[in-house]
Amino acid sequence: MHVLVLNAGSATLKFQVVRTDAERIAENRDEKLARGTIERIGGEAVITVRGADGVASRRTASLRDLRAAVEWVVAWVTSEEGATGLNSRADLHAVGHRVVHGGEQFAHSVMVTPQVSRAIEDMIEFAPLHNPHNLAGIQAAQRALGDGVPQVAVFDTAFHQTLPEHAFLYAIPYPLYRRHGVRRYGFHGTSHRSVAYRYRQLLDIPKSAVRIITLHLGNGCSACAIAGGESMDTSMGFTPLEGLVMGTRSGDIDPAVLDYIATKEGLSLPQVEALLNSQSGLLGVSGLTNDMRDLLAEAREHDDRRAKLAIRMFCWRARKYVGAYLAAMGGADAIVFAGGIGENAPEIRAEICDGFEWAGLTVNDSVNDALVGGAEGRFSTDESRLAAWVVPTDEELLIARDTCRVVTRA
Ligand code: ADP
Repeated sequence: MHVLVLNAGSATLKFQVVRTDAERIAENRDEKLARGTIERIGGEAVITVRGADGVASRRTASLRDLRAAVEWVVAWVTSEEGATGLNSRADLHAVGHRVVHGGEQFAHSVMVTPQVSRAIEDMIEFAPLHNPHNLAGIQAAQRALGDGVPQVAVFDTAFHQTLPEHAFLYAIPYPLYRRHGVRRYGFHGTSHRSVAYRYRQLLDIPKSAVRIITLHLGNGCSACAIAGGESMDTSMGFTPLEGLVMGTRSGDIDPAVLDYIATKEGLSLPQVEALLNSQSGLLGVSGLTNDMRDLLAEAREHDDRRAKLAIRMFCWRARKYVGAYLAAMGGADAIVFAGGIGENAPEIRAEICDGFEWAGLTVNDSVNDALVGGAEGRFSTDESRLAAWVVPTDEELLIARDTCRVVTRA
């Protein structure tokens, strides 16, 4: 089956074409036929595409809106230049969509029906920056390919629907949850699930035996406590602002600080929230950048005090979450790193793992240093009771596989 995977944002569209089926999934043999990113939709869009050989090419095109962008993608992946081997639109068998918020309604990926579209729309209130674009992506794909091609929604929140009540509730008056849905939803679920599934494949163990802490460290960062293969707790909450220190997000903060900053700086509460979302984290502390690669370079080459401080805070917070989850879960078998930072920054992994000797973890430095650029493997010593792994996340692949499963089951 050929699945078109779409991840639609406000001015960006990411896509992949994946050949997959039950056998390929079991044998980890799915094929990526093409992938790409369209940025600055709404004007002269910048398009970067890669064929199966991974070679990138760049161009621009005038793409007025998401609908035009999806139309461009469908035309390109079925063209000779796309070189996917797909000859016509009829060779695209299904579309899988990343949808950020599925609220409490969706614990699994589902076929898009008018009812599902309405539910995604209802959730716009919770994810105003994402769900409208995810929904527009679905509508654009329906228009480009017709009603005959099934569309599947894969939710970032779905994996965390297994959180028990004591983990997903905030300790605020209970009616606020009942009346307004104020609770921890968690995000990055597709990534945490993708990593947990691959870990299980690598160790050849059943889902019930997966007892790990996953750290997705990218621009956004989150930790997840996984027991019996299911999410038991996660660091992002009602929105993706809670939890770890991130590129531009503060993560955990005393809520009383919001009003205090608003008063002192003459800002409205939405302005303070925006400050916590886009001016904080690594960027806010360092005053330099939200990019970990650049921060590490500043720390290394110029011994920049605030760059070092931001990195220290980033690792300290991550370590606290790992420690808390180890305690809450009564121990775990592994800490698993993923995301741009988790997959590429051995020094960050080492600093987070440092001090877990009491839990039985010792890092093999040379193995750790070699795990970069998409490599997967264990970097703890053989004797370690608590292992440390790098397992690159592949959200698009998981979306393609879910799409295949949902469509085949239907
Ligand atoms: P997103 O969350 O947007 O998907 P990514 O998972 O691509 O982002 O992660 C982006 C982060 O990964 C950035 O902070 C970037 O600096 C960091 N990163 C990428 N490569 C490296 C590297 N070689 N060393 C350190 N950090 C890296």
